[in-house]
Amino acid sequence: MAERFPFCPACESDIEIDDLDVDRGERIGCPECGVTLTVLRVSPIELDIADEEVREWRDN
Ligand SMILES: [Zn+2]
Repeated sequence: MAERFPFCPACESDIEIDDLDVDRGERIGCPECGVTLTVLRVSPIELDIADEEVREWRDN
C-alpha cells in the first residue's frame, strides 16, 4: 500500500490516487485547483502540470 499520496505541483495538495489506477502519461485533474496534471511516472507517482502543447496520449 502506498504510504503517501502524490501532490499537486500547482497547489501542493495531496492527490489521492493509487499507482494502480494511473498509467504513465495519463492526465488527471487536480481536485483542489483544477489544473490538469500529467503522470510522469508511477511507483512512486510523480505528477507535473500538463502543458497545453503536450501531444495527446493514446487511451489504451
Ligand atoms: Zn492542485
